[in-house]
Amino acid sequence: MPRRAIPHACDNIRNSNRRPPRLAVAAMLLGGICLLTAGPAEARGATLMAGAAKVDITNRDAGPVNDPLYARALVIRSGETTAVLVAVDAVAIGEIGYITNEYLPTVRATLNDELGIPPEHVLINASHCHGIVCTDVAERTVQAVKAAVEKMVPVTVGAGSGHEDRIMENRRLKLKSGREVDVRHAYSLPPDDAVAEVGPVDPQIGLLRLDREDGTPLAVVYNFACHPIQGVPGGANTADITGFSSKVIEENLGEDVIALFLQGCGGDINPIDYKDVDHPRSAEPLGNMLGLSALAGVRTIDCREDDRLTVINETLTLPRGDRTERIAELESKQRQLLQSLRGTSLSLKTFLPLAVKYSLSDDYPSYYSHRYLHDDALGRSDLRHLDAENRRNIQAYMRNIHTMEELTRVQTNLRLLRKHQASLVASGKRTVDVEVVGMRVGEFVLVTFPGELTVRIGLNIKKASPHDHTFVAGYTNGYIYYAPTAEQLLNVGGAQEDSDCILAPEWQAIFEGKAAEILERL
Ligand SMILES: [Zn+2]
Repeated sequence: MPRRAIPHACDNIRNSNRRPPRLAVAAMLLGGICLLTAGPAEARGATLMAGAAKVDITNRDAGPVNDPLYARALVIRSGETTAVLVAVDAVAIGEIGYITNEYLPTVRATLNDELGIPPEHVLINASHCHGIVCTDVAERTVQAVKAAVEKMVPVTVGAGSGHEDRIMENRRLKLKSGREVDVRHAYSLPPDDAVAEVGPVDPQIGLLRLDREDGTPLAVVYNFACHPIQGVPGGANTADITGFSSKVIEENLGEDVIALFLQGCGGDINPIDYKDVDHPRSAEPLGNMLGLSALAGVRTIDCREDDRLTVINETLTLPRGDRTERIAELESKQRQLLQSLRGTSLSLKTFLPLAVKYSLSDDYPSYYSHRYLHDDALGRSDLRHLDAENRRNIQAYMRNIHTMEELTRVQTNLRLLRKHQASLVASGKRTVDVEVVGMRVGEFVLVTFPGELTVRIGLNIKKASPHDHTFVAGYTNGYIYYAPTAEQLLNVGGAQEDSDCILAPEWQAIFEGKAAEILERL
């Protein structure tokens, strides 16, 4: 279970505009950044200020590196409100992977102490790539934010979107049985003819563009839903798809431009061809496509003077799921599958050549056709009998194989269910507190959540929002595993998202209601 306590008291709505101008003081400490010491926005005619920077967070002691991982920071200020957006190339903000639970509170406390930035105005999103970050990632993240503060200049802003639908697929497969499984390396897929339909994707790339006063771009924030887990040939450390897309955007927009990727509702979205075994899997072409599609969108955005900057940070209490019944059902399924395995005449060694032979010819699989015709002419049917027996044995062997494959799925899901059930019991309570943030920068509106939201959640929130440019980022300010829809949670035990989840189905309505309320206020 999440050991993380929400690291600051943010139970109440924080209206960012009422905060004191602490950054101005901190900026002086940093060495006289005079732009930040200007008076309140109203007095100056409301200029939005922003700076962006990135710092390498690659762990270079952890084996070969294909491409660097970064912490990218964007600091935005309007009047007395300062907000920090950090995008890290890591799997999660605490709980799993290489970033510890201390990371977020440490970064926030340091930024509060040294720069006067309120903790609840610091948003940190993990791209969810599976790269390995350095052990001093917290210090380096603070460095990135400080470097961004030092580069702050007046900016114009604009929001928009791009479109990309070639690089990803929904990984949940609806089976003809009504159950759902997912496309994982952790287990085999069901037979093709068991699959009835696949789920949706969200092709929208949410965009925030910040330009300097001379019209040159300073930073781009882009939001997209897809697990960046394609890897690179050879398996070296990589920031994966979204590392490549950020590189493409930065290289094309010019020197000193920072492209911050915010992972969206990618909980059930895989890279396309995720289980390809015929070509080396590579994140680079997918990332290049995403980057170019983001750029196409960025170029349509007209940046204007707009000083709106709001952060609403709330703690939401969500119900945890009790999986006792589902675990019992799955254990019974496991026993039943095990007991259904039958003795077979064939072994792998005899099965494989027979499977090839019997797929090449329906009528004459065992030998040339003339031998069959010869037997027919003499009234014999020895080969036909042999074929019938071999076909029965092939079928029996394949039934065992499919049962074994189903067992791999059941056992993986059972392990996850037992892990989260144990943490529920150990926690001694039935709820979990999560941090939900709403942020507005000009026309760009963002809602964040710390779990792996599945794509339908994002599509729902965008559809219900009163704002044109509404985007949703999971994987932000903490990590509480997967957050599938209530309907998907009826399927617990089938797709890994549903088992690697601590929430009860009611969580979805509570979160979507809170998101709608925050959006209304932004
Ligand atoms: Zn994931």
